[in-house]
Amino acid sequence: MASQTYDAIVIGSGITGGWAAKELSEKGLRTLVLEAGRPINPDTDYVEHVPVWEKRFRGMGDRWRETETQAVQQKCSAFDEWCGKFFVNDKENPYTTDPDKPFLWIRGRQVGGRSIMWGRQSYRWSDLDFEANQSEGIATDWPIRYKDIAPWYEYVEDFIGVSGQPEGLPQLPDGKFLPPMEMMCAELAVKDAIATQFAGERLMTIGRAAILTRPHRGRAPCHYCGPCQRGCITRSYFSSLNSTLPAARATGKVTVRPYSVAHSLIFDSKTQKASGVRVIDGETRQALEFRGRIIFLCASTLESTRILLNSATPEFPNGLANSSGELGHNLMDHTMGGGATGHIPGNEDRITLGHRPNGIYVPRFRNVKTKDARFVRGYGYQGGGWRQNWEHGADLAGFGADFKRRLSRPGPWMFTFYGFGECLPNHNNYIELDQARVDAWGIPILKIHCAWGDNERLLLKDMPAAAAEMLAAAGAHDIEPFIEDNAPGLTIHEMGTARMGRDPKTSVLNEHNQAHDVKNLFVTDGSCMASSACVNPSLTYMALTARACDHAVGSMKRGEL
Ligand SMILES: Cc1cc2nc3c(=O)[nH]c(=O)nc-3n(C[C@H](O)[C@H](O)[C@H](O)COP(=O)(O)OP(=O)(O)OC[C@H]3O[C@@H](n4cnc5c(N)ncnc54)[C@H](O)[C@@H]3O)c2cc1C
Ligand code: SF4
Repeated sequence: MASQTYDAIVIGSGITGGWAAKELSEKGLRTLVLEAGRPINPDTDYVEHVPVWEKRFRGMGDRWRETETQAVQQKCSAFDEWCGKFFVNDKENPYTTDPDKPFLWIRGRQVGGRSIMWGRQSYRWSDLDFEANQSEGIATDWPIRYKDIAPWYEYVEDFIGVSGQPEGLPQLPDGKFLPPMEMMCAELAVKDAIATQFAGERLMTIGRAAILTRPHRGRAPCHYCGPCQRGCITRSYFSSLNSTLPAARATGKVTVRPYSVAHSLIFDSKTQKASGVRVIDGETRQALEFRGRIIFLCASTLESTRILLNSATPEFPNGLANSSGELGHNLMDHTMGGGATGHIPGNEDRITLGHRPNGIYVPRFRNVKTKDARFVRGYGYQGGGWRQNWEHGADLAGFGADFKRRLSRPGPWMFTFYGFGECLPNHNNYIELDQARVDAWGIPILKIHCAWGDNERLLLKDMPAAAAEMLAAAGAHDIEPFIEDNAPGLTIHEMGTARMGRDPKTSVLNEHNQAHDVKNLFVTDGSCMASSACVNPSLTYMALTARACDHAVGSMKRGEL
């Protein structure tokens, strides 16, 4: 069933789709947002203040149903009985992997996408990241450098509100920050020890988070209630629902259409442009078509590439805009889970107040000033301090008055460093269509082939040792180093599969996230990434999206599209 023509169609309404909707509509384009999932009403869907005793399973979750329908999603540490509804139904949205290569694909399918559950950690990349592929001869060079994206980081930070502490580090450029959150006493002790004993090499700062520490653009500051993955009725953290989609709607030029599952793009071989989107209505299963002058693919890393793979034409038999043969390749995710925990002595008379929704950050220090012979690139640590047995008192065994006293007495100050390492682009980590199976809407699903390489394993191995060193420097005792064996995907920083690059023969997108082969097609989610850095990626996706919108509208005005 044919439908009307829009100036722009955006597929997806999550972190990147929200930005595309805002930017394109504010620049005057009549914009249609096609979102596969349901609408979200914050008044009824946000549940961050619902107490545990009001939950049917008292916070333990409906384990039978979750195992049945969310076997993958429940592995995410943020998944719980409150916010499980924001994660996809794995039965309706299946994918396959090689038996010996698990990949945990954590997704959200609703208006707002994963911007509702994300951890909000927001860091800029630096030229150390943008130049690494070229200087090490790995994969292909980025077509942009820090100077190209820096103004767009600032533009995005100014809108979303990022709290943080400027540190003047070349490998982790400062942003336009709201006041930083405070560190706890144990964290200050560790920070000071690192500053003294690793001066010039390592540093600990408060996490840079897209959470307001003062009123900002009509949104209220955070009140430290804590479980942000369940929503935020005061709109204190950035999500597309809280920020970009309302701004887009305010233009009067945006139509957000939920339950619109993009099946594939329509390619006009006469103009060599994408002319529209084939959609399956999520509720009626009706096949629809929508026409647009430009298309922004923002359906998330693997979903956008899946749509392109499903859009093969006689000109592009292996997927639309895939003359390079690189579509689907170079899938990355950060390797996470090496670190250490220890007791920090002192400060027994002090406790925490509220639940700060943020931790600390130790920026990358390997291969920054000196070269490490063991591996390339590096990792950063997130983590923080807490008092043992305070929140976890229910785990103690016992009964009677003494038990009650012990329950209400917090244990020692603890501190954990938890590492996130860079993943190298590797052609052999890739996705393809699994033509044998379809999802609940009859659309061919993905087969994902992905495994950690030697460099990722070496980074992971180094994380506990370096974390333990810093804890020891802070006088910690009972230090316990650890390494988790996490499958790719679980870090939820999946990137690549439609990389940016200068050469159409080796990359899918140009320096403006524009398909080399199909000029009115833009892919601005994590699919576009040519490498992964070691910091959380979403701020970079947002900056690239805003930048690409600016370029697309400029090109339209110049009559180039
Ligand atoms: C628990 C958790 C913690 C995280 N913490 C951080 C963090 O601290 N920092 C950070 O940088 N990142 C973090 N992330 C990752 C971050 O959420 C993603 O990088 C980001 O949401 C990606 O934005 P996106 O727009 O590409 O995708 P999403 O936000 O996932 O949005 C994609 C949208 O597209 C829709 N869609 C998919 N397929 C189709 C289709 N065929 N047709 C129509 N619509 C479609 C989906 O329904 C969804 O709404 C976290 C993620 C999770 C789940
Ligand atoms: S901790 Fe802050 S940002 Fe998180 S849900 Fe509560 S008020 Fe919102």
